[in-house]
Amino acid sequence: MKRRKLIKQLSALPIIGGFLGTETLVAGPARKVFPKPRRDYYKELGLRTYINAAGTYTALTGCLMTEEVVDAYTYATSQYVALDEIQDKVGERLAELLGCEAATVTAGAFSAITLGTAGVMTGLDPEKAARIPHDVTGMKSEVIMQKDHMIGYAHAIKNAGATIIQVETRRELEKAINENTAMLWFLNANNFRGKIQYKEFIEVGKKYNIPMMNDAAADVPPVENLWKYTDMGFDLVCFSGGKGLKGPQSAGLLLGKKDLIAAARLSAPPRGDTVGRGMKVNKEEILAMLVAVENYLSRDHEADWKLWESQINLISESAKSISGVETEIHVPDIANHVPSLRVRWDQNKIGLTPDDVRQALREGHPSIETVGGKKSVDITTWMMNPGEERIVAARLKETLKG
Ligand SMILES: *Cc1c(COP(=O)(O)O)cnc(C)c1O
Repeated sequence: MKRRKLIKQLSALPIIGGFLGTETLVAGPARKVFPKPRRDYYKELGLRTYINAAGTYTALTGCLMTEEVVDAYTYATSQYVALDEIQDKVGERLAELLGCEAATVTAGAFSAITLGTAGVMTGLDPEKAARIPHDVTGMKSEVIMQKDHMIGYAHAIKNAGATIIQVETRRELEKAINENTAMLWFLNANNFRGKIQYKEFIEVGKKYNIPMMNDAAADVPPVENLWKYTDMGFDLVCFSGGKGLKGPQSAGLLLGKKDLIAAARLSAPPRGDTVGRGMKVNKEEILAMLVAVENYLSRDHEADWKLWESQINLISESAKSISGVETEIHVPDIANHVPSLRVRWDQNKIGLTPDDVRQALREGHPSIETVGGKKSVDITTWMMNPGEERIVAARLKETLKG
């Protein structure tokens, strides 16, 4: 109730909620550049810029921050504040907004995983924080996860000095738990793929009193996921700042239990003799991350969805107008949960592979980035500037026509 009221209040604030009414969401010219650039830096460097029809990919520099986020970032450069003090205040505000006990801004979801794991291992002992990852004597250091949840980003767990134990069934999980178990780790996007899903997983964690972390990095929208998993009983939850939240690409959120967030921060800057010292977020990212969350909470999510649907439909219809081309519109269940387009064609009729088409789109003007494998070109529009879907639709059609 309290949270919903807060969200409502937020959307009533002109500075925070006002700019993103439905008006600016209607397809139109690309938004203005802000703050007004003094120089054309990318051009000076000879860098290619592009329309992002792919999605939130680190290699493509993630997302474009919203105007409010850039304002906050710029504002933060104007005066000094103490690093721990801004983390305290922003953490409190984030926790209030998202209805969890505590929160901290990290250098991305990957960093949130490492710091959260570090916190679980060291507790509030700085001497232990100074010893990880190389010396875990006297600390619980095993992290258990399901085989089906294994992902490259789990490297972040090992960076804290923990060892990963993989299991498949609930029985195996319960058997693997021992006095050295530090944490149970969950990859939110793979809930439906694993044999142990939310309810059972949390039951086990609670039964043995072991902290549980959920990596939900790419899992907004929907907005309610920002509190769903802490409400469910996960002790720590990680989100990327630079994906759906449209905050800084080099920021993220670690949400959860007060004692665990405090322990995680023991390994974070400004403390120097720690695993997290290189995962610095400064006042600019911290403030910008808060405003990204405020901004995201107050968005008209239904209008966003309608816009994405109409953009995807436009591109789909344009591609389908060419004989031999088929399209499929789908929405991934969790993670990148947005209208997504898959374009396939009869390669006997159209003598191009998906790689050829992606390359032609990349090398044309303006350059367009898409993704996909050997069978399709895949497109999302949520990271585009409204209006760019028309360019993508026209260029895709032109390219497929040869
Ligand atoms: C993107 C992603 C990460 C890494 O997030 P960053 O914010 O780039 O550090 C971790 N886990 C999952 C599941 C992701 O999708």
